Amino acid sequence: MGHSKKHRGMKSSTGWDVPPPEALRAPAGFDLAAFDRHSTPGWSHGRGKAEKLVAHHAGELSDLQERLFAEGRSGGSRSVLLVLQGMDTAGKGGIVRHVVGLVDPQGVAHRSFGVPTPEEARHHYLWRVRRSLPRPGYIGVFDRSHYEDVLVVRVDELVPKKEWEKRYDEINRFEERLVESGTSIVKVALLVSPEEQKKRLLERLDRPDKYWKYNPGDVDTREKWPAYQEAYQAVLDRTNTEAAPWHAVPADRKWFARLAVSELLLDALRRLDLGWPPADFDVDAERERLRAT
Ligand code: AMP
Ligand code: MG
Repeated sequence: MGHSKKHRGMKSSTGWDVPPPEALRAPAGFDLAAFDRHSTPGWSHGRGKAEKLVAHHAGELSDLQERLFAEGRSGGSRSVLLVLQGMDTAGKGGIVRHVVGLVDPQGVAHRSFGVPTPEEARHHYLWRVRRSLPRPGYIGVFDRSHYEDVLVVRVDELVPKKEWEKRYDEINRFEERLVESGTSIVKVALLVSPEEQKKRLLERLDRPDKYWKYNPGDVDTREKWPAYQEAYQAVLDRTNTEAAPWHAVPADRKWFARLAVSELLLDALRRLDLGWPPADFDVDAERERLRAT
């Protein structure tokens, strides 16, 4: 640890017409129904250039991740939390592989949230989330999150309306406190179109190497598409806060979603203005001691 890698070449996110955090931020009054899931907001180039840029970001991403990790080891309190929400096939797993996979896995705390286990179900819905938060120095990645508690829970009426209604404000307070305690939250809604979802689900049935990803329940969820869109709209309306804003990422083109999330993660890390922790020992004295051995 402690060797200093230099950022190579362009530091800005070249190629974008608009800085990506700005192009992707869900504005107040965001209209989910009107959102083009095949679009590439802020980006007017194609796939080749996007993939090159993601590859180019790898060096800076892993350098910043290492700085964050070093800070955490030296008593720092900061961390980053990437929250990935999206319907089945939106590409959450691909983001983890292709974007989060660019950094040292030792510094990543990945957690996916499925149907609560019996133990989880006995606790408040934020209990399992709190226990999964990244420790100082880590990049936490949530594949689904506490937002399921106002998405599937709302659509399938798993708790009464008066219960889930309270959760939006509760989630906002929870996230605000998290940010105050040093966690930068990057919330990403990966928005796939129903047509593209159908294509991706059919592909899973056409390919034996994809059967494992197919869950017959996904078709039941798909049949409730309008109710899910309404629930997502409510999330974007009611939890798009200053402390933890939402980003709307069109997911019909996987290469764009991957570029977009790599930029958002990079932006969050850059804003931490990470240095290297100073030595807590006498460097010269240590050098002399080593020479003498
Ligand atoms: P997958 O991400 O494909 O592994 O699927 C996980 C499943 O768990 C999805 O169908 C989610 O809707 C479901 N899930 C996640 N969180 C909850 C929750 N709090 N209550 C009920 N179902 C959930
Ligand atoms: Mg699934």
